[in-house]
Amino acid sequence: LPVVALVGRPNVGKSQLFNRLVGQHQAIVSEEAGTTRDRHFGRVEWNGRSFWLVDTGGLVEDSTVPMDVEIRKQVVQAIGEADLLLFVADARVGVHPSDARVVDLLRGSGKPFLLVANKVDNPQSSDFYEFYRLNAGDPIPVSAANGTNSGDLLDEITQRLPDQDEAIPEALRVAVIGRPNVGKSSFVNRLLGEERLVVTDVAGTTRDSIDTPMRYHGRDLIFVDTAGLRRQSKIDDGVEFYSSLRTRRAIEGADICVLMIDATLGLENQDLKIATLAWEAGRGLIMVVNKWDLKEKDGKTADKFKKEAIEKVPYLAFVPWIFTSALTGQRVTRVLETIVEVESEWRKRIPTSQVNETLESLVQRLQPPQAAGREVRLLYGTQVTAAPPTIAIFGNNPDAVAEHYIRYLHNGFRAEYGFTGAPLRIVMRHKN
Ligand code: GDP
Repeated sequence: LPVVALVGRPNVGKSQLFNRLVGQHQAIVSEEAGTTRDRHFGRVEWNGRSFWLVDTGGLVEDSTVPMDVEIRKQVVQAIGEADLLLFVADARVGVHPSDARVVDLLRGSGKPFLLVANKVDNPQSSDFYEFYRLNAGDPIPVSAANGTNSGDLLDEITQRLPDQDEAIPEALRVAVIGRPNVGKSSFVNRLLGEERLVVTDVAGTTRDSIDTPMRYHGRDLIFVDTAGLRRQSKIDDGVEFYSSLRTRRAIEGADICVLMIDATLGLENQDLKIATLAWEAGRGLIMVVNKWDLKEKDGKTADKFKKEAIEKVPYLAFVPWIFTSALTGQRVTRVLETIVEVESEWRKRIPTSQVNETLESLVQRLQPPQAAGREVRLLYGTQVTAAPPTIAIFGNNPDAVAEHYIRYLHNGFRAEYGFTGAPLRIVMRHKN
């Protein structure tokens, strides 16, 4: 995760801002001058992005230590560790003589930074204008005490974080998950045996290595925890498996999850639980119904199987379903094709102009319902992340957008852009 560090003079409100952004009271705001604090870390999630916020604290408010020295220490430390620095100043005090020197130091660091003017408790106040003098970009007025503008600050922060979504990693990480004996290891072995696949020759890769790399149509794939797969059926019993750390770790370590179920047993609650874990973790998802060779079927069996599942869990309508036999090899390579397709859906970015076109036509077709007599207006939208995709929609009253209306928008965006196999998130944000 990217790291964002707060720096600034004592008493400008860094700890309070830290608490405000982290949303919990993890930092200790010291009442007593001279109290040494450790550095505090807090994880912040905003618009589908996460980062670590670091309060460099550790300050001793000792008048014999020159302010510049203290701040310099913080900044130097933060430059080494952080991807973005927030230079917090006190709008009530105004521009402090040392501020210009800190800005020079920040500029010299080559790290991106934001100038945050704290203690602007009244959003109408123009106190912070004098920070323009520092020539450090637009100062962002906030009030850590009452939360004014903290959303805007978080927007500014997340826009400046290194974009992990853009760079396509060398290899796509795939986890094959599912209950014991559904055929996961047979499936992976089958893939390795297909002549179209080249098992990548990586030094140190043995049959027992945790991850199995392979290449498919020019794309490097890594099947994660395949050694665990081989062992797992001997260790885990069915119920235990789903809550097991192993499964969670496989999901955590993967981009795309292939959830395998046994056609002869059908979809069980445990399968749904694990699917939901993967989906909520933001992974791409593919449903594979294996042992299809054992299933007595007519032309409608597959559709019926799928339909029953979707009735129980509606989001399963948005993921690909493949009916395979690891024994005969039927549609096993189809799974590989689908993995590559789902990856591109998962990473897909819709230009803002198109998001807004779609939003406009959806709103035209069906207006958001009023909430408590108040009009609910949706102003514009933009895709804020990919992998997994998140669309933020800005409006006057984000908390009042009815659940069913968000679902309507969700289905509308799905109908337009697919995102098949990718968990699409729609978040409502405030804008007047
Ligand atoms: P895992 O625990 O999910 O890795 O499952 P395994 O790959 O060990 O398979 C469990 C059993 O199901 C083994 O006896 C396999 O031979 C058998 N099996 C796996 N896939 C299929 C399939 O598609 N069709 C049939 N008929 N049997 C299968």
